[in-house]
Amino acid sequence: MNAKDAAREEIEQRRKPLVDLSHRIHAHPELGFEEEKACGWLCEMLDGAGFKVERGICDLPTAFSASVGAGPLHVTICAEYDCLPAIGHACGHNVIAAMAAGAGIALAKVANDAGLTITVIGTPAEEICNAGGKILLLERGAFAGTHFAMMTHPAPVDMAAPPFIAVCQFEVKYTGKEAHASAFPELGINAADALVVAQTAIGLLRQHIRPTNRIHGIVTHGGDAPNIIPAHTSASYMVRARTVGELHDIRSRVQKCFEAGAIATGANLKIEGGDKPYAELVSDIDLAALYQRNGETLGRHFIVPGAEMSRAAASTDMGNVSLVFPTIHPVIGINSLPAVNHQPEFTASCITQAADQALFDGAVAMAWTAIDAASDTKLRARLMSAQPPQ
Ligand SMILES: [Zn+2]
Ligand SMILES: [Zn+2]
Repeated sequence: MNAKDAAREEIEQRRKPLVDLSHRIHAHPELGFEEEKACGWLCEMLDGAGFKVERGICDLPTAFSASVGAGPLHVTICAEYDCLPAIGHACGHNVIAAMAAGAGIALAKVANDAGLTITVIGTPAEEICNAGGKILLLERGAFAGTHFAMMTHPAPVDMAAPPFIAVCQFEVKYTGKEAHASAFPELGINAADALVVAQTAIGLLRQHIRPTNRIHGIVTHGGDAPNIIPAHTSASYMVRARTVGELHDIRSRVQKCFEAGAIATGANLKIEGGDKPYAELVSDIDLAALYQRNGETLGRHFIVPGAEMSRAAASTDMGNVSLVFPTIHPVIGINSLPAVNHQPEFTASCITQAADQALFDGAVAMAWTAIDAASDTKLRARLMSAQPPQ
């Protein structure tokens, strides 16, 4: 039996435990950096499949690294497993986690014959959009020795090299002064008005930004009672741009809007975070082509990201990985439409038969892509000689 058939058979045999893992993670949603159960279940499964597992790597209690094989080409597969607040696994990271485990286990079976070393890295907290798990793991050396990295993400449709743009998230805090809202309003400093001024300024700014920029946020605290002038308000905002370079520009313009709120009302402004943005994702075109061909062999249909799909760009800390190592981050359809990521209806779609099939197909396509890369002399040489930028 050749390596690709052997890898597929391995995943086929483990279909039930992999689907169980996906559904169990889905049933126990955990927020970023709190993914103790998901991390533990993945480590157990990989340990049972012969991986050397290290838990809590890089001072991140819910990160892990699991390695097997001693071949020359070193592939790293990323497993995400954090959920979203309030709506659970509305981004399908339960499927990502099980897919990564499935691909890793399939490759473990053939690693030495195929010339591969496999590492599955458990990467916490992708949804927080600043200082995500992969950024901290990259900084702290978890990806050292990798020749290429990959993961596959659930979505409404299949794309081998979808667009992902840069993002940063920051927290805004205004401090004013309380006063009786009817009897002594002239003694108050209204921190809620500061937010209104800032949001108005951001609304006006939208005319003057690039069509590729995004600005979105929520008020996390708007006051305590209508008869108390709000002295403490806060908001959480994200800005996005095509690249980290452009992000810097839009971020400073948005922050000026928050300064406007402080100037107009006399409230004090504090902005925290936004210091470790997610970079744009650069897909390795050769690896993406291999993934697509393998996906098509499994009967999947890929769409090409055209003009209207470029509007449908999200962000990921896999982008930061992609600027250091050759990387792919395909998305895989789970037949969710009209539901899309970050909707409760998408949460429900992440444990359907279509999602379970995507788990299987994504795991096989990633395993086959690694085997193809290792057996293609030219591609293997390029991946192995790619030096991380200094
Ligand atoms: Zn996601
Ligand atoms: Zn998401």
